[in-house]
Amino acid sequence: MFPIDLGADPTIGGMVVTNTGGTRLLRYGDVRQNLLGIEAVLADGSVLDLMTALRKNNTGLDAKQLFVGTSGTFGVVTRALLRVVPRPAQRATALVGARDGATVLALLAHLERAVGDVLTAFEVISADALAPVFRYQPRLRSPFGAALPQFAVLVELSTTLPTERLPLDDLLESALGELVEGEPGEGISEIFPGKPAELWEIRHHVSESHRHEGEVLGLDISVPRSSLPALVDGARALVAEEYPFIRVCDFGHWGDGGVHLNLVWRAEDAPRPTAELKRELQPRIYELAVTRLRGSYSAEHGVGPHNQLFYDRYTPDVVKTLCRAVKAQLDPMGLLGTARLG
Ligand SMILES: Cc1cc2nc3c(=O)[nH]c(=O)nc-3n(C[C@H](O)[C@H](O)[C@H](O)COP(=O)(O)OP(=O)(O)OC[C@H]3O[C@@H](n4cnc5c(N)ncnc54)[C@H](O)[C@@H]3O)c2cc1C
Repeated sequence: MFPIDLGADPTIGGMVVTNTGGTRLLRYGDVRQNLLGIEAVLADGSVLDLMTALRKNNTGLDAKQLFVGTSGTFGVVTRALLRVVPRPAQRATALVGARDGATVLALLAHLERAVGDVLTAFEVISADALAPVFRYQPRLRSPFGAALPQFAVLVELSTTLPTERLPLDDLLESALGELVEGEPGEGISEIFPGKPAELWEIRHHVSESHRHEGEVLGLDISVPRSSLPALVDGARALVAEEYPFIRVCDFGHWGDGGVHLNLVWRAEDAPRPTAELKRELQPRIYELAVTRLRGSYSAEHGVGPHNQLFYDRYTPDVVKTLCRAVKAQLDPMGLLGTARLG
């Protein structure tokens, strides 16, 4: 199995140049960690063949990494050698209701200790992000009923071992049970074990359901995991004070510090046009994430033209100078890529 799994169907080249993570990054890492070899065509038409499948190679610069996450600026990726892993024999999933961000982090820390690396996904959906799923997908049922918890956490364990060797459902139940009996358990409202396909279906409809609600400003942010509550609480405070007609519908891969901060509103409730509000809000949220919390304004989609302004603002000069030097060497006429990294 190629372990990078996401709710889209991108090309391998696109995944390399945006360094895709996916929903199981927590367990398997991103493209950077799963890329063994690469072939790229450079601006002058020459082919750079780095298609060795070595897992260890300490002979100087690892040049294939120049193409990872750099939005196609240094060359066109034409082939890749990717790590594959044995397909899991079983999965166990549960939806857990948590009253606040501190409880979610305590749950994550507990599971990492209690079940180790069979923890393969830890997805968090806020009540505001989850409610539209059940509004627009009537065939999906809320296990929580109408009163959604502040955060719903989708926990997934998986293993290549058969059930006789490791009963995964029992392991998940006992790990969650231990937590409920301890101190952080106070913040856990409900636990619903469920079939993986059914629980993932809820998760995969989140983004789409927000588009039915009205205007959406979608921001893909990451911060150190311990700062995730500060990020979502900070965004809510900012919006509540100055943009009361907007809802913060946040969800994402808390296991790897990533959040989709979807700001959602109805155009008729807004005092200003959508485009103007987007231009105003995006830098304010990025400032909170990048400057105050030392995070990233692009956890998923690379740089690209939409984030050029923020790349210019937040990237250290020495990094830009390095990129300029590499670009001058590989593509002196500036023919390739959609972002200017130098
Ligand atoms: C619904 C959805 C869910 C997603 N979920 C996640 C997630 O969970 N985690 C995550 O990390 N990301 C996620 N993403 C982002 C995803 O990783 C990227 O959108 C995707 O990998 C880009 O690949 P693509 O083939 O669609 O490229 P495109 O969108 O077509 O191109 C993206 C950029 O790459 C360049 N490019 C494309 N192919 C090549 C090539 N062969 N060589 C050089 N440059 C190239 C293009 O010029 C462009 O600048 C999600 C995206 C969507 C739409």
